[in-house]
Amino acid sequence: MKKIAILGSTGSIGTQTLDIVREQGDIRVTALAAGGNIALLERQIREFGPALVSVWEEEKAKELRIKTKDLHVRVVSGMDGLLEVAAEPESEILVTAIVGMLGIRPTIAAIRAKKAIALANKETLVTAGHIIMPMAAEYQVPILPVDSEHSAIFQSIQGAGGNPIEKILLTASGGPFRGKTLAELEQIQVEDALKHPNWNMGKKITIDSSTMVNKGLEVMEAKWLFGVEPKQIQVLVHPQSVVHSAVEYEDGAVIAQLGVPDMRLPIQYALYYPKRRGLSGKRLDLFETANLSFEKPDMEVFRGLALAYEAMRRGGNIPTAFNAANERAVALFLDRKIRYLDIPETIAACMEHTAFVKHPDVEEILQTERETYEYIDTIYENK
Ligand code: NDP
Repeated sequence: MKKIAILGSTGSIGTQTLDIVREQGDIRVTALAAGGNIALLERQIREFGPALVSVWEEEKAKELRIKTKDLHVRVVSGMDGLLEVAAEPESEILVTAIVGMLGIRPTIAAIRAKKAIALANKETLVTAGHIIMPMAAEYQVPILPVDSEHSAIFQSIQGAGGNPIEKILLTASGGPFRGKTLAELEQIQVEDALKHPNWNMGKKITIDSSTMVNKGLEVMEAKWLFGVEPKQIQVLVHPQSVVHSAVEYEDGAVIAQLGVPDMRLPIQYALYYPKRRGLSGKRLDLFETANLSFEKPDMEVFRGLALAYEAMRRGGNIPTAFNAANERAVALFLDRKIRYLDIPETIAACMEHTAFVKHPDVEEILQTERETYEYIDTIYENK
């Protein structure tokens, strides 16, 4: 019986992870952490029976303790709660499915406790890859990618026999605004950006897909996961989302993973790696998808992607500024306080404004995050 803990169990990745637990029947959930959705968390506790759960606010933790007093579950809260769930002694794998840089410290705690990491929380590697990857190597802990593209790359390097990767071909659906001009993007409203053509995901990541900032974050994540240089990562716009990504080797061979868009496959692959298991749901029918097309991304229209490459090349704390600026800008856009094209504008302004730190430690990463947020507040207060 495998034993897992999940950070962000009430979110899109978290609930799909639990779908797999339900379907496979041989995984035990030892601990769960969520933000504030205690109604769903209570249902998850009743169904999966973890011994430990964490919610962000102590007030909600109190409420949940009352609701679950008939059960054997300990309810903790705050960052200490997340750290406790991350290092829960019985679990073997931690699924990091919370959003944002909040994921860094629990991931470090889990690595120190020798847990394998099934990593969905891309912000952790984007901002702290220089800390996480060497630490995982030191503690001999595998980092198993959950993101579908990175899982595809990971699946494509199985059996590579130590041959180096020449190039990563990272696919992108192009989102709902593929082929649009900058002038057309001026008019985009929240509702338009929330419609993703192929994947069904949380709100923030759906907006990030539409701006291609998500692809930018994935490029940075790939650099750390697979130890390649920025120039070795090529983004391909592939609207059908059938080829989930590929790897090119020295001899020109390209190995790819294909499938229907279903996050449960990469989640399940990370949980059972290196084994494969049966999985319900639709199968890829190549006769139905006879047309597979690939285009170069338009980095002028989707400036967020160009900025991500720039952040990756500059390194240090600049990816943190990129990520924090995007997080805050997306939240402001969703609140209808800024326009769609203000998102990349804000990222560029914050990257420009950030004082460069070459090898930031966790405290300096979190400080860059805070300073970026403060800077955005000053930008929009003065408008
Ligand atoms: P969601 O917004 O759907 O879920 C986020 C989860 O984090 C929820 O369970 C939420 O809890 C929890 N959370 C939020 N704040 C806190 C907090 N302060 N303390 C503890 N838990 C908190 O996000 P997704 O599932 O879409 O994404 C999660 C991560 O996975 C992101 O980093 C994303 O980039 C990455 N990812 C997502 C993919 C997808 O298909 N969705 C694909 C690949 C990567 P609550 O709801 O209870 O507040």
